[in-house]
Amino acid sequence: AVDTPAIPPRRQPHATELERRGLLFVLSSPSGAGKSTIARKLLEADPSIAMSVSATTRPMRPGEQDGVDYHFVDVPTFKQMAADGAFLEWAHVFDHRYGTPRAPVDAMLASGRDVLFDIDWQGAQQLFQQAGGDVVRVFILPPSVDELGRRLARRGTDSAEVVASRMARAASEISHWDGYDYVLINDDVERCFAQVRLILRAERLKRSRQTGLIGFARKLMGG
Ligand code: 5GP
Repeated sequence: AVDTPAIPPRRQPHATELERRGLLFVLSSPSGAGKSTIARKLLEADPSIAMSVSATTRPMRPGEQDGVDYHFVDVPTFKQMAADGAFLEWAHVFDHRYGTPRAPVDAMLASGRDVLFDIDWQGAQQLFQQAGGDVVRVFILPPSVDELGRRLARRGTDSAEVVASRMARAASEISHWDGYDYVLINDDVERCFAQVRLILRAERLKRSRQTGLIGFARKLMGG
């Protein structure tokens, strides 16, 4: 039910950039903490990372596009995809189902790309169970409860009832902060974005991901 998107060409790697395994970069936060802005900026700034577009059964919001923001599917389609093993992970979030289609992720990793996930703590946990050390989990916190409330109200696309229920859910989502590798406070979006890029750069350089390192070191050692 979900097409694999066309993958743009990867930039030419630097001469001393070694072959490495792709990583699964998870950004989670309670809604309203600014995560989607940071995800968008990251995708614009870095052609080596591509977004995983989730499937969901929730209704489309104004301004959203099918296939871009989500693959919007009905409940029977979602259930069928889950039964077929088409999801890398899936979960109930805010009374709707959300899942990560497996095939596009495999295709992006195979093309030498890292993959960015905007998924909740349940998804982060499931991905980690499946892909372990290839997963980097980043949690973004709002600077305060008041600011979170202001950001949720400003978005204006959901009813007051939905906003209130998301405020309540925010507290329970935040309780899972310790299931993440990095926790950032988004008091300034540029600062938080810079921190996210630093994390990604450092994680890419980890020895365990540098599959080209063995051959390179061997050559240096004259072997
Ligand atoms: P929203 O409805 O505001 O777009 O997303 C609600 C929540 O669902 C967000 O916290 C988002 O990270 C999470 N979410 C979106 N897609 C997925 C997914 O594929 N899997 C999981 N586990 N959570 C997701």
